[in-house]
Amino acid sequence: MKLLFTIILLFLNSIFAMDPIVLTKDTIEYPMGMYLEILEDQNRILTIDDIQKEEFENRWIKSDRQVPSFGFTKSIYWVRLKIKSDLEKKYFLEIRFPQFDKVSLFQIKTKSVSEEKQIGDYIPFKERDVPSRNLVFVINPSFQIDNLYFLRFETSDSMMLPISIWTEEAFLEKSNLEMYLFGMFFGALIVMGFYNLFVWISIRDNTYFFYVMYIFTFVYFWFNYTGLMTQYIWRWSIYFYHLFYAISIPLSFVFMISFTINFLQTEKTLPKIHRLLNVFRLIFIVTTLGTLFMDHQAVIILLVIEIVLVALLMIFGGILSFALGYRSARYYMLAWMTLLLGGIILALRNAGFLPSNPLTEYSAFLGTSLEVILLSLGLADRINDLQKQNVTAQVRALEAEKRGSKVKDEFLANLSHELRTPMTTVFVLSELLAGNDNYPDEVREFAKEIRAGSGKLNDYVNDLILVTDIETNLKLQKNKIEISKLIESVLVEVKQILEDQDVQIIFEAKEKIEFECDSILLAKAIEAILKNAIVYNKPKGTVEITFRKRVLKTLDRTFKGIEISIKDNGIGISKEFHDKIFEKFFRVDTSLSYEVSGVGLGLFIARKIVELHGGTIRVKSELGNGSEFTIDLPEKS
Ligand code: ADP
Repeated sequence: MKLLFTIILLFLNSIFAMDPIVLTKDTIEYPMGMYLEILEDQNRILTIDDIQKEEFENRWIKSDRQVPSFGFTKSIYWVRLKIKSDLEKKYFLEIRFPQFDKVSLFQIKTKSVSEEKQIGDYIPFKERDVPSRNLVFVINPSFQIDNLYFLRFETSDSMMLPISIWTEEAFLEKSNLEMYLFGMFFGALIVMGFYNLFVWISIRDNTYFFYVMYIFTFVYFWFNYTGLMTQYIWRWSIYFYHLFYAISIPLSFVFMISFTINFLQTEKTLPKIHRLLNVFRLIFIVTTLGTLFMDHQAVIILLVIEIVLVALLMIFGGILSFALGYRSARYYMLAWMTLLLGGIILALRNAGFLPSNPLTEYSAFLGTSLEVILLSLGLADRINDLQKQNVTAQVRALEAEKRGSKVKDEFLANLSHELRTPMTTVFVLSELLAGNDNYPDEVREFAKEIRAGSGKLNDYVNDLILVTDIETNLKLQKNKIEISKLIESVLVEVKQILEDQDVQIIFEAKEKIEFECDSILLAKAIEAILKNAIVYNKPKGTVEITFRKRVLKTLDRTFKGIEISIKDNGIGISKEFHDKIFEKFFRVDTSLSYEVSGVGLGLFIARKIVELHGGTIRVKSELGNGSEFTIDLPEKS
């Protein structure tokens, strides 16, 4: 009897023993990894009827990972899952890896297939249940009974099965958030690309050209990898997708290697590495062509090997170059390392060693953005370096920089304006996200970072716009205002900064003085000085603001005016910098300046505004003993 019982149990141990995942009211996302059973079909011959047969029962293996993954394989993988729903509702079954050639879903009712759907690169986009970059099936599990589903996966990429089930609302919300993040990511890369393209056009240094081409091929790759290309561009034709997707990887390395050769000047400084890089460049060119003819999977495996080797070579080259005293190489190394780190985190997540959360899932995107930014810093640094290297190079680089900076100035002016709207959008959206309890903590933390960053960026952009306005076509809009009111309005503006700082403001409106000026601009000037007095202060420091009427004397004239003084007892400024601090982008090089984020525009803006009013600005200060900034403004200019 007992034996019989065991035998029955063994039989039951098949489909019936598998636990269904229960979809309840309270959960919005169900990662399916642990609920799957998987069968590998090496010969690619089994049908949906075959795999349900008793004889295959012992080939089903229960998954023990959140994201089952099997690397590059020619096999077909079958997945079995059982769903029970407490609600009568449709759900979204998402495969968060858009590279599958073909995925089929079968729903089984009373032992036969009741529904079959297909999705993937080889199936036209318009046939998808949901127009999404990832592969998504809409499922309608029958209420409160076990629903059996089979999935069949066919791919020429790596076999990775990150499967989740979502409620409709949660899926839409997630997709929206993702779109914003992608928008920022691609937006940043494309702006960088175009910016450097313009620099290249103006100074004709080919390093910039290769950098730009690298960015654009990389953007193209990511656009494909994320499935966005299929969604937005290739949706009408599956043919092109397969033709050009793989090409972008080796091509981006052709450009990257060319960039490296130019950037590190390997021919002169590292001849051995230079020869090796040239060999690799040739290999990548051949591979680029190879992607058009060779088997996709073979190409990808070949590429992985090539990339690992060349990445090591390039990092090694960066280190050597740095060791030889080439400063800009550190940006180059850092850039590669962030990219690599992002890639490694993504790979570890895909392999199931790291948990799957927004940070790990998007790590490669962060890595890429940082890489591109660091390389751009490297390029800027390199120009500086070249100047120092030798006289001819100096002359040429200076000329180049002059031409570059004119184009840069104009371009910056346009760019700043263009950036304002999207920056504000990013700021407001991240604010909304950060404050919404419905999102997971990671997402909100992420959003807070974005908010802080974009807030700062916003300030810079506004400063830049103000600078271009002041330097080009600004007309003062004068009105009468009481000076004490003006100062009070500035105090409101700096409230936030004051809260973070242990500094006290002393201000008493002793007199009523009416004054005619452009009060909005003048407030900006006072704000810039006051902000500095607060941030370049010491703990428990004070800032005193006073104003009075006075008679101003210049060499040839005497006239009435007012004087506004802002005095702090902070870190002070050494004499040698007293003139310089009013220049554009100048910052005193102290450890504090690294903590205080700024770009050195504040005092430049303040001086320009005061001068537009016919006034002057001066500073009295000693290192360690506080500073006093005084603005003199004539009554009529
Ligand atoms: P930013 O504050 O963005 O660096 P600013 O043009 O406002 O640029 O100031 C230029 C530099 O002058 C600052 O980097 C700082 O080193 C110095 N500075 C300005 N105001 C003060 C102050 N009140 N005390 C000490 N240093 C100051």
